[in-house]
Amino acid sequence: MDLVTADERARRCPECGTLARRSKGRRVTRPRDVPIGGRRPVVRWCKRRWRCEEPACGRGSFTEAVAAVPAGKRLTVRLRAATGAAVTDGGRTVGAVGARS
Ligand SMILES: [Zn+2]
Repeated sequence: MDLVTADERARRCPECGTLARRSKGRRVTRPRDVPIGGRRPVVRWCKRRWRCEEPACGRGSFTEAVAAVPAGKRLTVRLRAATGAAVTDGGRTVGAVGARS
């Protein structure tokens, strides 16, 4: 299952809040979801890297993140509903991540 981020807020610089316009490439992460029917769904989340263009901001570049899955964290059962709303599968919003394979 391949996911991309649908939440525009993921493009905001975590330092100054400026909406980034220039992508610096992609990075695939593999958040771990809960087992469904005894097996773990394989999820690849393609995150983009962005460059902050605010001159006063010293951040430079950052990898997008959504509130439901903080940077470096994996999915949890409790956060699955919120994550589904923020992440799409091929352009469609996934209601329940992991419900389809
Ligand atoms: Zn910034």
